[in-house]
Amino acid sequence: MSNRIKLKGTGIVPDVAIGKAVILEDKTKIFIPYYNILKEHIDDEVNRFLKALEQTKKQIEDAKDNLNSDLESDHLSIFDTHLLILRDQSLIQKTIQIIKERFLNAEYAFKEVIKELIAKFKGMEDEYFKQRREDLEDIATRVIANLVDKDLNKSLDFEEDTILVAKVIHPSDLSILYNDKVVGIATDYGGVTTHTSIIAKALNIPTVVGLHNATKVIVDGDIVIVDGIEGEVIVKPQESEKNIYLEKHQKRIHFQKQLLEIAKYPSITLDGEKIELLANVEIAEEFPALKKYNAEGVGLYRSEFIFLQSAPDLPTEEEHYNFYKKLCSQVKGEVVIRTLDLGGEKFFHEVLEKDEQNPVLGLRAVRFCLRRKDIFRTQLRAILRVSGENENIKVMFPLISGVDELKEVVGFFEEVMEELKNEGIKINETIQKGIMIEVPSAAEIPDLLAKYVDFFSIGTNDLIQYCLAIDRNNDKVNYLYQPSHPAVIRIVDRTIKAARKAGIDVSMCGEMAGNPKFTALLLGMGLRKFSMTPASIPVVKSVLRNVKISDCEQLLERVLNMESASQIEKHIIAVNHKLIPDYEKLARIKL
Ligand code: PEP
Ligand code: MG
Repeated sequence: MSNRIKLKGTGIVPDVAIGKAVILEDKTKIFIPYYNILKEHIDDEVNRFLKALEQTKKQIEDAKDNLNSDLESDHLSIFDTHLLILRDQSLIQKTIQIIKERFLNAEYAFKEVIKELIAKFKGMEDEYFKQRREDLEDIATRVIANLVDKDLNKSLDFEEDTILVAKVIHPSDLSILYNDKVVGIATDYGGVTTHTSIIAKALNIPTVVGLHNATKVIVDGDIVIVDGIEGEVIVKPQESEKNIYLEKHQKRIHFQKQLLEIAKYPSITLDGEKIELLANVEIAEEFPALKKYNAEGVGLYRSEFIFLQSAPDLPTEEEHYNFYKKLCSQVKGEVVIRTLDLGGEKFFHEVLEKDEQNPVLGLRAVRFCLRRKDIFRTQLRAILRVSGENENIKVMFPLISGVDELKEVVGFFEEVMEELKNEGIKINETIQKGIMIEVPSAAEIPDLLAKYVDFFSIGTNDLIQYCLAIDRNNDKVNYLYQPSHPAVIRIVDRTIKAARKAGIDVSMCGEMAGNPKFTALLLGMGLRKFSMTPASIPVVKSVLRNVKISDCEQLLERVLNMESASQIEKHIIAVNHKLIPDYEKLARIKL
């Protein structure tokens, strides 16, 4: 067929899916796009908003006219109320102000204004106020639907074998992915460590990100192949092509079965070194995978997902407590709860005070928690309460950049411990505390930081981004996001060695830990504990069961003398091929 199109992006989940495209913005009620607009487009954006208001007014007037003859006049007053809301100048001006001052898109700006108004009516039991709240919600949905050009009467249900196509899927839109009808994902933006990618991996949905213009090229209902192995999306494939891809998918299923067998084997190198393989967890849907892939524990629980899922409300202490308790019951080994790491890509507008010019370098993670100690306290109390019942739980603080900051965090943690003890609540007073090493400044002073904590976990996703000055979510520069860069190799090597010298536990929980390409190299550095998306465990295990530590150390020695990412990459791959019989197949799992 002549209109077949092939798009190139980055493969995330190495599997193939064939299905019908659904352009996300058009079909789901919950998807309210969030993006910044350029200064020169502000007037256009304001006009777009005003146009949507007019369109909504017209729709309401039409509906009123249509029903005029059938309804009692007091029933028709609902339309008048809605029209009044649409003419409310303070509502209109506030929205315009947000668009102008915060460079935000109209849908999001309007949603913020409505939300603020609704919050004022919250808790008022009076029927009148309840009704006004509902009116506001109704109007907001209509205006936003017009802004995103969505027909509200269209079915929101996905059909079988849906391929979601979107500019971006924010972690806070996660709920749309919990749907067994969604078999594949294709997005314009994003990279390997984007959180949508991490979730797609956790849910094992074939995904290609960073396609640049998928939402422009693909239209609703197009047949699409998502090839997460090659990082390609084929729009309107030929009939014969479909069979080739179905075969590819079958092969993948067969290989997965083999890997599941490997998951049962001991995690031990050829020369008898025991290696711990733990899991990264984001959502409860991943719990079955912990057993399936034989995770020895949870090396990273990204607790921000509790917040994203309870949005717009904050999770309560009980909600934290119940989730952590359940998580601890899923594995025999340790469970590391990383405290809230919101900000950066993981926006949570209901909590974050303001949008920032440069959020990745802004009020993120512990910086935010130290500002909002009320939120931090709630989470720490829950972790400590679980520690009294389960000794395996550990706490980990993200984005630590120096000793003063760490002392402040640890000081606050101890304060909360005292608080619980005074309340007579049982806690584990020797609960292990650790930090993520993901800011270059922290990686430069591991000896100093090690005095205050029991363990380090190296977060390569952020460490690479901050070390190389490459936004981990920007597909325009992600060719420079290089885990094999000599600076990254050296910084990781030094951190592992310094932690071992200081006698504290060290693991790695960034995506590099689950990439079989780096397993031998990391073993050569002395890493003995890896945490990764559960499905990667057997792949990494296959590699480590085929190598000797002495070979890995030799590999590292050579690599440390190399000058570029490309040289290092080439060498690692050649050595992996030599050492590991099945490496060709494993390398296809480009995690
Ligand atoms: C990391 O930065 O490597 C990490 C594991 O944390 P996150 O991806 O959640 O930022
Ligand atoms: Mg991080």
